[in-house]
Order: sequence, then C-alpha cells, then structure tokens
Amino acid sequence: MSTSLAPNLPEPPPVHLSPAAKVMQGTAIVSMGALLVIHAVRLVGVQHGSTTAGLALTVGALVAGYLFADFMSGCVHFFFDRFLEETTPVIGPAFVKPFRIHHTDPIDITRHGFLPTNGSNSLVTVVPLLGLFAIDITRAVGFFFVAVVVVASLATFGTNQFHKWAHEPVPHPVVAWLQRRHWILPVDHHAIHHTWPHEAHYCITTGWMNAFLLRVGFWKAATRVFSVVLAEHRDAQPAPSLVPPEAPPDSSATVVSPVRAQVA
Ligand SMILES: [Zn+2]
Ligand SMILES: [Zn+2]
Repeated sequence: MSTSLAPNLPEPPPVHLSPAAKVMQGTAIVSMGALLVIHAVRLVGVQHGSTTAGLALTVGALVAGYLFADFMSGCVHFFFDRFLEETTPVIGPAFVKPFRIHHTDPIDITRHGFLPTNGSNSLVTVVPLLGLFAIDITRAVGFFFVAVVVVASLATFGTNQFHKWAHEPVPHPVVAWLQRRHWILPVDHHAIHHTWPHEAHYCITTGWMNAFLLRVGFWKAATRVFSVVLAEHRDAQPAPSLVPPEAPPDSSATVVSPVRAQVA
C-alpha cells in the first residue's frame, strides 16, 4: 500500500545524484567525520575534561551545541519556507525548492538516500570545523567554544536524517524510542509545523527550541524584519506553495497534518 500523503500528486522518482554530486556529498561527509574525530581527540587530550569544572564545561557544551543546532535548523527552515522564490537565481533551485516541495509532498523526503539526505548539511559544517584549529583549547573558554561547535556540527549532520525519520511511516524501533523521549525530532511534535498555517515549530533537529521561540514571538518578529529587509510583505501570508489547495479561508483553522495522517 502506498504511503504517499499527497494522493493528488504523481509520485516522483527517488532522488538520484550525478556522479560529481555524489563525490562532493561523499567527500563532505567523510571530511566532516574526520574533522569531528580530530577535534574530539583534541578536546579529550586537554586537562579540562578531567576536572569538575571541565566536566561542567563538557556537559554545558553538549546541551548548548544541541540547542544551537536546533535553533539554526529553525532559522534556515523558516527563511526558505517563507522568503525568496523557487526561481531565485542559484539559491532558489538548490535551497528554496526542496522546502516548498516538502510542504506539498511531505513523504518525498523519505525517498531520499543517505547521500542526498545528509551530504549538504555535512558540507555546511566543514568550514566551521576547519576554523576550530585556530582556537586555543587549553583555555576554558576555547575548550567550551570548540566543544559547542563540535556538538552542533554533529547535530547539524543529523538534522535532515531526524527530519526524514519524523516522516517515516514505520521508523526503526530504536528511532521510535528516541522520538518518544524527544531526544530527536518527534513525529507528533513535527506534525504541528505541517498543520496550517505552518507558522510554528520550524526547528527540526530535536524541536527543543520550538516552544520557547513560539512563546516569545520569535518567528513573528523575524517575519516582520525580513519582510522589511527583503521588501516583501508575507507577514499575513505564507509562501504560495505552502498554501494547500484545501486551505480554509480562515487562517486560524487547521488541516489534517500530513504527519498525523501518516501515522494515523
Ligand atoms: Zn516548513
Ligand atoms: Zn517535515
């Protein structure tokens, strides 16, 4: 039985990367992995980790790095959901289009293989990880900063995979266990973003930042700022492709979430 949640759309074929793209994505993942291991060895090699203060720094960096990656995932997701167009030169086809497709066909992401899912995010982490070699980790502040970036990079690598798992009809039992404990993006939590009018819960690493950002009105404020900066006025309207054909005229109403429909 088909698991597609967009029955009105023809099911697209799985994503196939060109050989050059495969090499680039694979190189990015290997490079990121190697840099993470090198920095982890550097961090373990200094004395901070063996002291009480060092343990506090390490735990703090784990939490801060995971939260920072979740926040950044929300910022990127928010921007490409609500601004620019799929036809915007360079950025449109590569970044805007995938986010818009995801709202018209949320299951499409589950057809992506390992490289298309994780290659781009790995690429983004390589430059920051290279920059960490310039930081003196024998000082506590340097140790903490490097540890935060290492954890955030690892979480950024996992972001698209966690998001993909949130749309899987039957995730692996270990994945489902992690989702239920909210250590990675839970299915029901992410379903809120896929519910009209799609103006909340943009964070897709763990979703830990979503409640706070919603409470302080972060996305409403960001929409106003970017509407002015980009001379666009979408504060009352999501991007056209986020408007489902059956969207009710009353924006306070909701439609059945694709994610909930998937697990129902
Ligand atoms: Zn979205
Ligand atoms: Zn999604």
